[in-house]
Amino acid sequence: AAKAAGGGRRHWFDPALDRAADETAHLSADLRRALAQEEMLVLFQPIVDLRTEATVGAEVLVRWQHPERGLVSPDVFVPLAERNGVIVELGYWVLEHACRHAAAWQVRYGDRAPTKISINVSARQLAQPDFVERVEKVVRETTVDARALVLEVTETAVFSTDVAIPQLTALRKLGLKVALDDFGTGHSSLSLLIDCPVDVLKVDKSFVSGPTADGAGAIITRNLIGFVNDFGIEAVAEGIETRVQAAWLRRAGYRLGQGYLFGCPMPAADLERRFAPPKED
Ligand code: C2E
Ligand code: MG
Ligand code: MG
Ligand code: MG
Repeated sequence: AAKAAGGGRRHWFDPALDRAADETAHLSADLRRALAQEEMLVLFQPIVDLRTEATVGAEVLVRWQHPERGLVSPDVFVPLAERNGVIVELGYWVLEHACRHAAAWQVRYGDRAPTKISINVSARQLAQPDFVERVEKVVRETTVDARALVLEVTETAVFSTDVAIPQLTALRKLGLKVALDDFGTGHSSLSLLIDCPVDVLKVDKSFVSGPTADGAGAIITRNLIGFVNDFGIEAVAEGIETRVQAAWLRRAGYRLGQGYLFGCPMPAADLERRFAPPKED
């Protein structure tokens, strides 16, 4: 629907597309209210060690539980929030929730607590002149150990603003890590690994599912890991859905993975069960 509304091929006389555009406008206007009324929630998708399948971290993924529409996908509302600017406040809201959970786990479980809590950051957030200051404030107020936090940015976000690299550099000085998300989509270039301060490379699922097809995708995926390791960067293979993919990636040298095979995005309490010591009763 969003595509239809924004695309250049829209016919003004098509009532279906008109409705789609209307819907998009409504949803967009509704976002501010939704944030105020706590209709947003965060889920955590496990990031696992491919050898042991132990949960070492989680990606924080926002959801919108709309009173009439039900669950709205972030693929729909995040781009709308980007356009109308709500993403800035939504982003801090997600960060705060993630940090509160992470801080509580650090207190309760110490060394067992996940060390890679990954939070998506959009272009618009990264462009805010006070982004570093506000992240620092959330870290301080939630008392989270910032070394367990990873900020996921896309190459597009990094290139969209001049302040991206200095901001990411400053955040790293505070102890946070930086991940390059969706690597392999768009026009990701390896030179970005030199220009941009990157700790983690998230290899997109389009590459992860490639290996079984045994084509060019497999060659890139296999060689990318050596290159990445030599740079001292960690890689997370995203979107792993099958045992065959997981085994192939492990043999190729990938240590970390994420995908429905290991767990869908889940509430904090369910994630916690994965790394908490078993309860005795
Ligand atoms: P992403 O950051 O690349 O997140 C990974 C997406 O892949 C998630 O979709 C996740 O549920 C999905 N996924 C995980 N494992 C598998 C798998 O095995 N197979 C397949 N087919 N998909 C898998 P989700 O949660 O719908 O989020 C979509 C996108 O929305 C995210 O892509 C991210 O770009 C954006 N997003 C989500 N939460 C936030 C947020 O808090 N802030 C911002 N700025 N963007 C967010
Ligand atoms: Mg991500
Ligand atoms: Mg991704
Ligand atoms: Mg994505």
